[in-house]
Amino acid sequence: MTDRYAVIGNPIAHSKSPLIHQLFAEQTGQAMRYEAIEAPLDGFAATIRRLRAEGYKGCNVTVPFKFEAYALCDQLSSRAREAKAVNTLIFRDGEILGTNTDGTGLLADIEKNLGFKLMWKDALLLGAGGAAAGVLWPLFNAGLGVDIANRTLDKAQALADEFKGAGTVYARKYEDLTGRKYDLVINATSSGLKGELPPLPDGLFKPGALAYDMMYGRETPFMAYARKQGAAIVSDGLGMLVEQAAEAFYLWRDIRPDTRPVLAKLRT
Ligand code: NDP
Repeated sequence: MTDRYAVIGNPIAHSKSPLIHQLFAEQTGQAMRYEAIEAPLDGFAATIRRLRAEGYKGCNVTVPFKFEAYALCDQLSSRAREAKAVNTLIFRDGEILGTNTDGTGLLADIEKNLGFKLMWKDALLLGAGGAAAGVLWPLFNAGLGVDIANRTLDKAQALADEFKGAGTVYARKYEDLTGRKYDLVINATSSGLKGELPPLPDGLFKPGALAYDMMYGRETPFMAYARKQGAAIVSDGLGMLVEQAAEAFYLWRDIRPDTRPVLAKLRT
């Protein structure tokens, strides 16, 4: 019997998740199918109902449904509760279990694939949307102090207030970044989708710094800026995508795929 899974988003045609999970399934000998499903913007809950009725075992959730997925779950992991956003659903015993694997994916990519040690580093997180919220707690757990900069300062402030007890966190205006330096700058904005660069000053990177754009599939203006500004390592978010998928695969199938050959294949 072939178990069925899907990624749900809108739009979704661009998603690499079906290929990633197909490669994981081949590598680990799992009998499963994984497809991309576009839910209408007002039809996420109905799509989940349909998939459950058809016997799907779980799904991934992407933009713009991660907050709706959070609200729909019967049980939430602590990671999902901290992020208030869910990217992985498990349909089990008549219940919907939800978690968020984005933070785990980001840390795995940075530490394992890029070989960048996080402990005691200073990070700047650009953006205050779902992606930023999803990685903030894991960044604290990894021992980083985090500044959050966002175009709409209120959102960055709300995020910083929410996580205040968890670690050192400040909300900053882009204008206030002048003169500050960081070991790690993560672009968790969707600016790259529009070919735009957040208004960043010169001189943001400490020696040895990593510049990480969560977007993947193209050289973004943020990546070009980071190269010009002398960041030691510049990465897109493809490794994060593969690593968060591996974590979801592990939760569904109880077997951990080797991400390296899959990432290498996607890069070619
Ligand atoms: P949201 O729509 O929730 O948030 C978008 C954020 O980007 C907001 O903070 C917004 O600021 C900011 N923003 C948009 N345009 C600009 C701009 N031109 N300049 C400065 N800031 C801007 O999106 P998500 O948080 O869900 O996703 C963000 C990105 O992360 C996407 O590109 C997504 O593809 C990527 N991502 C990658 C993953 C991976 O596995 N690699 C996983 C998850 C996300 P404001 O509040 O002021 O509007």
